[in-house]
Amino acid sequence: MKNSEILLLKDLLATPKKIVIIPHKNPDGDAMGSTLGLYQFLIKKGHNATVVSPNDYPKFLKWLPFESTVVKFDLQNQQATRLIAEADLIFTLDFNSLSRVGDMENSLRNASAQFVMIDHHQQPDDYAVVTYSDVTVCATCQMVYHTIEMLDGLDLIDADIATCLYTGIMTDTGSFRFRSTSALTHKVIAGLIEKGADNAFIHEQIYDANSYSRMQLLGTALTNLRVLPEYNAAYITLSQEELDEHNYQKGDTEGFVNYGLSLDSIKIALIFIENKQEGIIKISLRSKGNFSVNVMSRSHFQGGGHTNAAGGKSDLSLADTVAYFISILPQYKEALHE
Ligand code: 5GP
Ligand code: MN
Repeated sequence: MKNSEILLLKDLLATPKKIVIIPHKNPDGDAMGSTLGLYQFLIKKGHNATVVSPNDYPKFLKWLPFESTVVKFDLQNQQATRLIAEADLIFTLDFNSLSRVGDMENSLRNASAQFVMIDHHQQPDDYAVVTYSDVTVCATCQMVYHTIEMLDGLDLIDADIATCLYTGIMTDTGSFRFRSTSALTHKVIAGLIEKGADNAFIHEQIYDANSYSRMQLLGTALTNLRVLPEYNAAYITLSQEELDEHNYQKGDTEGFVNYGLSLDSIKIALIFIENKQEGIIKISLRSKGNFSVNVMSRSHFQGGGHTNAAGGKSDLSLADTVAYFISILPQYKEALHE
């Protein structure tokens, strides 16, 4: 964050404010961890803060401290709309384009509040008076820790805040294994454990909360895994029918795409998940090394994200989406063999 922005943020927070904190649609561990961590810090600073989420999040996040205070825009529309309209300040966390909040976008565009963005995705939009954007940081949760540090507030981090921030760093780094996990990340994690984050407990809550039907769905996903050795590529499909058969719940497919990437020599892995209700195929893309799935998703799948992890969608059928993906691969052949 620029010095001038730190000063501006301090100034904005110098008197009690009405604050709304927003994660992206279909929030993940980093989105919920960062918004709930910042929420508790701002409450401790004497502000009137609320986390307003575009929609619901998976069960494996429904133990996070203060999670029950989250207002969901799709389910509690009037309350959420009022909070956004009345806010002095709106923090947007773990995303950088207002199109990432789904149906909530209009309410945000009409809000009179000033915006603060804290995010680590590429190519941020220009809607905030304070834009703290750093694509080298592994997780927005780490950036919230640095934000609290810049506001001279580390003493206010308690076990609950530490738990939220630890969770997002853990989930966005694949449990501290992705390249974005830096020495500084580990220092922040050490600080959070000192503040009371219980690492074994958090891992169990997130990773050992599988339902039997989710494991069966994983079996189907692995059966559907296809490899394209010519392009060092792998992909998984899941049809709506297969999801229904295994009593699909939000979050059940989280992490499935990584199985493709764990195959020897594979540089890029995708998962195509049919959503009949929305009439789209939801796509997750992952890569290793310099191959940018952010660029691939922006160019072909109406999405984006990071170099090694991106999301997107397709309006074609499941079979046509896969065929389209295979048809674009030749243009990436060289890059996938580097
Ligand atoms: P996932 O595949 O887990 O949904 O998303 C992977 C990464 O890409 C996440 O960091 C997520 O925020 C980002 N992402 C997912 N979907 C989209 C999208 O539609 N647009 C953009 N710009 N980023 C996305
Ligand atoms: Mn993130």
